[in-house]
Amino acid sequence: MLGTGSALVTRCYNTCFVLHGADGARMLVDAGGGNGILTQLERAGIACNAIHNLFVTHAHTDHLLGCVWMIRMALQFRFPLHVWSHHKVVRLLTLVCRDILPSGEVEGMGSLVVMHELKDGDRFEVGGMQLQCFDIHSAKELQYGFVALMPDGQRLCCLGDEPFSEQCRTYADGADWLMCEAFCLHEDRECFQPYEKHHSTALDAARLAEKLGVRNLILYHTEDKTLETRKERYTAEAQTAYGGRVFVPDDLERIVL
Ligand SMILES: [Zn+2]
Repeated sequence: MLGTGSALVTRCYNTCFVLHGADGARMLVDAGGGNGILTQLERAGIACNAIHNLFVTHAHTDHLLGCVWMIRMALQFRFPLHVWSHHKVVRLLTLVCRDILPSGEVEGMGSLVVMHELKDGDRFEVGGMQLQCFDIHSAKELQYGFVALMPDGQRLCCLGDEPFSEQCRTYADGADWLMCEAFCLHEDRECFQPYEKHHSTALDAARLAEKLGVRNLILYHTEDKTLETRKERYTAEAQTAYGGRVFVPDDLERIVL
């Protein structure tokens, strides 16, 4: 997990992570809000030029702008980067990168950096991981989650950064791993107002995980005012409603699937 925070955090990085497949293949999922992505990759010991695939969930600041830096690195240091997302992200990233990156490097757009425009339900493969994207039916902004069938047969479902929609049930039902946003604790909801921001609490995510019958629950995209106690308190709250394993990672924490 390169970052675990929601949009306006300052004490951790915005939510983004790397999925490791077979043969050293890696897929970066979102890139946070700026060139902090390069810092987080360096801290994690992952060479930037070892990332050849980038999945982008949606075009909000805290997920998209770090992608511009990944594209810049790929163009400047000449490594291939496949960007997977829906039409709005592809359009925006292409437009922004062509306009603001050095002209000599922009020539590599389309050859070094390849944009793959996905539609709801499309499938693709990265390093032995079979991926399928799906529209999360966001109320705010077109957003895609995905399911990844890992080389060992485990199924991981990433729901993006908004509350679950029943229309995504087939993707998430019975998953081995569910990645779900939890903006704050249910007991802190008066303070952080998750529902006004169209987010969930740790308890909401736990109830969902229980309902879907998933084996492991990873909570992310949280507030950053309670980081010191986040792991312990979020885990405890989630365990009141969910019988599986709960993970509340810190930035740079590795989760072995
Ligand atoms: Zn977000």
